[in-house]
Amino acid sequence: MIESSISKYFDVAIIGGGLAGLSLSILLSKAGYKTILFEKEKYPFLKVCGEYISMESWNFIEDLGLNLSELNLPIIKKLIVSSPNGNCISASLDLGGFGISRYFLDNQLKQIAEENGVIICEATKVNEVIFSENNFRIKSPLGESLATVAAAGFGKRSNLDIKWNRDFVKQKNSKLNNYIGVKYHIRTDFPVDTIALHNFKNGYCGISKVEGDQYCLCYLTTAQNLKDNHSSIKEMEQKVLLENPFLKKIFSQSEFVFKEPVTISQISFDEKSQIENHVLMLGDAAGMITPLCGNGMSMAFHSSRLAFKRIDLFLKEEICREEMEQQFEKEWKIQFAKRMRNGRIIQSFFGKEKFTNLFIKTIKPFPFLIQKMIKLTHGKSF
Ligand SMILES: Cc1cc2nc3c(=O)[nH]c(=O)nc-3n(C[C@H](O)[C@H](O)[C@H](O)COP(=O)(O)OP(=O)(O)OC[C@H]3O[C@@H](n4cnc5c(N)ncnc54)[C@H](O)[C@@H]3O)c2cc1C
Repeated sequence: MIESSISKYFDVAIIGGGLAGLSLSILLSKAGYKTILFEKEKYPFLKVCGEYISMESWNFIEDLGLNLSELNLPIIKKLIVSSPNGNCISASLDLGGFGISRYFLDNQLKQIAEENGVIICEATKVNEVIFSENNFRIKSPLGESLATVAAAGFGKRSNLDIKWNRDFVKQKNSKLNNYIGVKYHIRTDFPVDTIALHNFKNGYCGISKVEGDQYCLCYLTTAQNLKDNHSSIKEMEQKVLLENPFLKKIFSQSEFVFKEPVTISQISFDEKSQIENHVLMLGDAAGMITPLCGNGMSMAFHSSRLAFKRIDLFLKEEICREEMEQQFEKEWKIQFAKRMRNGRIIQSFFGKEKFTNLFIKTIKPFPFLIQKMIKLTHGKSF
């Protein structure tokens, strides 16, 4: 199927089959465009992510064809934040969210994409994308395919970021880049309607329920924190995370489902470009919001919706390529630039041990301030 189709011409080629890439492929195929999507992994697969999705995406995901209402997913309406020394505040979440594992969600969307006629090339890493004579040539181990439009939803950091020498890969290590992410699934005793964000020195760890009987336990910390602990995740957890009494309880009283955690490194929150070599960048590839904001997934979906509108107008010949690119970039900035900036500022409140302790103590009598901070990084339903 894939090999016979690979030599054909596509309206749109999408590199990366996470939430951004898959959702765009579904929108395009439903609109009748011939779409090919490349994903380097084989579905279903595990991914580092806190797996809490802001409610702003609910309707969009249902419109894609996934009936969330039928899945009996945990609906999350409360937030607990603790400081490294165990001081704790709680707040209700106005918008709230729901829990769903990426293993399940990405695979469901992949199936919907296939049912709608998207050609999915899984276990296929794209090595190069070349724009010439108003077309894209997408090079992968399967050969070369041609497309009128190319979109990239290849996530936080990909081989193509390095090949294209994007600005953010050239940045020296700073407080906005060089983070690592670690994720486990656990069985534990924790309220279904709550997400907790437990801070520790140089990082924070989220816990919330997903489908079935499991919880997602996922943390972000600096690469330096790991290095300082002999590059041992176990040692770092014992010596640093478990200083927070809430994390000590969770780590000691839960059943860990994976033998080893899922991990990623070199996470950067630096600014990124939304167009690269005429390719429309989606989701984390266009800019990654700090995970404590809990809406990177919604932004990935929303960016695909914006891209779809412009691609559709271009393929209908209502706007030219330059207009498609400019309008997409402009809309992306209107929707997300402020949220990203706010996310970076809020990130700077967390992580520094003494500062976080003081911050939580000071904000404790004013839980509505937490709600205000959340609003600064979230959008509306789209
Ligand atoms: C520690 C941590 C916790 C987080 N927690 C949350 C949370 O609770 N809630 C939330 O909303 N967001 C959270 N996020 C953010 C969220 O995970 C991302 O914003 C979201 O996954 C972005 O989706 P995406 O489609 O852009 O990228 P991804 O989901 O990363 O998908 C990119 C895909 O591209 C593929 N790929 C890469 N290169 C190539 C190539 N050359 N060829 C083919 N395929 C390629 C990859 O295999 C991958 O599947 C968290 C992030 C981190 C790091």
